[in-house]
Parts: sequence; C-alpha cells; structure tokens
Amino acid sequence: MRDVVRVRSFSCVGFEDREVGIEVLKSRGLQQLSLTGLPGPWLRDSRDKLRSLAARRGTWGSLDRLLVHLLPCDESKAGAHLETPIVLACRLALEEEVPEATLARVRDYAFIGSLGLDGSLRPTEESKLLEDLYPGQVLGPSRFATIEALWDYLVDPDVDRCPPERAHDSFVAPIAERSVRVEGRALERFLLGAASLQRLPVLLMGPPGVGKSHLALWARSLVAPPDAALQSAIRRIWSLAGSEVPRRPFVAPHSRVHVAELVGRSRAGRAHPGFFSLAHGGLLVLDEFSELNRDSREILRTVLDSREIRRNGLQGPVRWPADFWFIATSNPCACGYFGSNRTNCRCTTVARQTYSSRLSGPLLDRFALKLFLTEGEATRGKRRRPSADEASEDEWPRLPEDEGQLEARLERARRALTPALESTARERVLRHAPNASRREIENEIRLFSAFLALDLEPERGEMLLQVLRAQNRSHLFAENPHASTSVRPDALRSL
Ligand SMILES: [Zn+2]
Repeated sequence: MRDVVRVRSFSCVGFEDREVGIEVLKSRGLQQLSLTGLPGPWLRDSRDKLRSLAARRGTWGSLDRLLVHLLPCDESKAGAHLETPIVLACRLALEEEVPEATLARVRDYAFIGSLGLDGSLRPTEESKLLEDLYPGQVLGPSRFATIEALWDYLVDPDVDRCPPERAHDSFVAPIAERSVRVEGRALERFLLGAASLQRLPVLLMGPPGVGKSHLALWARSLVAPPDAALQSAIRRIWSLAGSEVPRRPFVAPHSRVHVAELVGRSRAGRAHPGFFSLAHGGLLVLDEFSELNRDSREILRTVLDSREIRRNGLQGPVRWPADFWFIATSNPCACGYFGSNRTNCRCTTVARQTYSSRLSGPLLDRFALKLFLTEGEATRGKRRRPSADEASEDEWPRLPEDEGQLEARLERARRALTPALESTARERVLRHAPNASRREIENEIRLFSAFLALDLEPERGEMLLQVLRAQNRSHLFAENPHASTSVRPDALRSL
C-alpha cells in the first residue's frame, strides 16, 4: 500500500482563514473517487469533474480506489477553490513515482483555484483574496492558467512554462459616492460631525419630511477613510460577499430586513457576511428604526456593545467584525407628527406609548446623541423662511461644505482627540452630571471631547450638553410621556 499523499489549502471562514488539509489514499477497490471529511455541496456536486481531471495524468487502474479526506474533519468545506488541491493530490497519488524534489515543493505551498472541465484554473472571490493575503505561499489562478501548467511547475520549476502573471481584477474599486448636500442645519451637522469622531450611535427623530434620512445620508461623508489594516478587513468582507469593495462602507438596509440578513447567513454551506459586517469601518443607517423587528433590535444592541458577530455554523465557529458608526432615524409616533410645530399629532396617548415602547430603554440608552428635528428649518423647498436661528448659527464652529475640506477638518479634529483633551472633557462633564447613568456619562465625555476637538469653547459645549441632556430625558424620547420632563422640540434652536 502506498503512503498517504498530503496537500495543503486555505479557506476563509467568516473573518478567519483556516488551513484545509487534503489527504488522498489509493487503495484496492472499485475504480472510484470518494470524498470524506464534510465536503460542502459544491465539492460533492463536482466529484465527477474532479475524477475526470485527476484521470488525465498517471494511470488509474480499474481496481484503484481514491479516498479523498478533508481536514479538519469536523468543519464543512465550502468553496470551489478547493478543487485544484484535490485534483493535485489525486494525481500525486496516481503517479507511480514522484521525485522527492516535487514532493518538497508540494509541501512548500498551499494550492487554490476552481477548475474548468478543460483543466483551466479559475479564480473565485475567495481564491483572489487568499492569493493576495499569502503572496509567495499560495499557488493558484493568478499564476497558472491550467492545472497542467501548475503540474509542470511542480515537476520542474526551472522550465518557465507559466504564462505572464495574470492581472488580478481590481479589488479596491471606489464606488462613486454621490455627494449629498445639506443646506442649513449647521448645529445638527456640527453635532453629527462630533458624533462621527467618536463613532457614537445617533438617533434622528422628527416628523416626516424634515430631512432625517437626507441628513443621515450626508453623514456618510463624515466617516474616516480607513487605514491600511481596516481597508484590508473591508476588502475581505466585501469580496466574500461577492460585492465591489467600497472606499468607505455605507449600508442602509430596509427596516423590515430579516435578522439573518443583518448578522449574516450560510449559503451553500458557506458563511456570508450580513449588513452589520458589511458596515464594518463605515456607516450603517437604519431608516424607520421603530419598524425594525424585535429580534433585530435585540441583536443590534449586543452588536453595538461587542462590535463583532460570533456564530456557530456547519463551518464551525464563525467570527465577523462589526464595528460601525450607527445612525437610526425614526418618526416620533405612528402618525409621525408628535412634536411637530406645523401639524397636530392624531395619535392617542396609548398609541403613542405603544409606538415609543418599541424603542426599549436599554436600546435607547445606546444612542449617545438623540436629536429631534423640527420643521423650522426645512432642508429644501421654497417654504424655508429665514429665522433668528440662522443668525445664531454662525456661533457654532462650521463644518466646511466642500467634501475635501470637510475631510481635512475632521482629520485635524481626530488628531486633536488626545487623552489630555479627554480629561478636560471629563472634568467639565462631571461638574454637571447629577443622576446620570454610567453609560450616559461616558458617552457625554466622549461627545464633549469631540466638541473640544472641533474647536467649540468649553462654556458653549457645556450649554449644548445641558440642552441635549434635557432633550434626551424629555417626553420626545422617553417611553412614558408623563414621567419625564417637558422640553420644547426646538429647544436646541433657543440656545
Ligand atoms: Zn402621532
């Protein structure tokens, strides 16, 4: 009996790479190829193709049975990119004699690539990613056009039969980011800018038509461009999802989205990232947040704390990062006009309570910045009237309208966020923090640090924080309208 042939490959399982071992044993039996070790649906389906490709080299006698075993054996192996190492291992097992030098080269590398019926090596999203992550350690479609060329290279690497390096499809293709302009709303834009610096979750509430979604869309330009490490994480997640990789991730799923679409699901035995992971390093916007189902809300709450997703699937434990900036928008009540200064709310008190109870206390608590937008300053339209508010707007540090300038301004503020600045902020916040929860205080300190980093004078920062705090506790956001303080929706304007 011959020795067992071993070939290495890799698989992406969630956010991690796992080594996959392929062992092939040639034994006596009916001429066939058997796969064990939890091959995924794709591999089971392509068994005939693999058998045919393996038989093109070496002699496959009528009483030679090839047993292919995949390791580790307790995790499902998904992905077409395992076809190449399987066929390679089968051919090695069928060869009468393999030179030691060739076996040594086989041990040196890991192999990946999907296979066409003609033996051509084809890239998959996963193989492209792995070849990029392990340059020089992985042999696959970017270097070899066919499995014959790969075989020839293993037999004699000096003979250069490889075609010139194939150019990869571009991974980092910038998606055209539609630039969104917001007129007016200088204070809201300043506050969103501050929240973006610390990636504090934001809730934008207000009647229909005040421009909540528009403002959330604009906030996309506030997201910091990712550094190299983050960019590579983003590339991994988006390419495993089979999508074009964005420069700054932005996802805005529908509020009736299924919870599995948010956390990620398995397709054909392989883990796919969900919206929470696609938003990693970028912005997640959930419009009509109150419409989100209970399961999704609860999971969102834990993801906002843990900043990652851990699940167990056929492929074993799967981890995805999910560290994003989060903005939710919501109407204040079922009819939408509670707190409006133009239209009266038609809801009963009970109906309003039922509606606002969908935003549970602990979840509401996660929003470090809750803003109630009123119609006083519509973002567009002819009805916009000049008001005293606009005169006072110049008092807030302005965020530049131009996207390039805005980016530079925020970058400067990010550098200004030092521990010294934070301790100044802590001192100021603790001066006026009666009966606030620990989470509230920590959030306020981070928000206040961002105010300072954006050059707001500490005294005005304190004023702003007082109003925000009163608004947070007001009937506009609390579950029980009777138990909380009454604050005019446009309290921010009166500063
Ligand atoms: Zn209403």
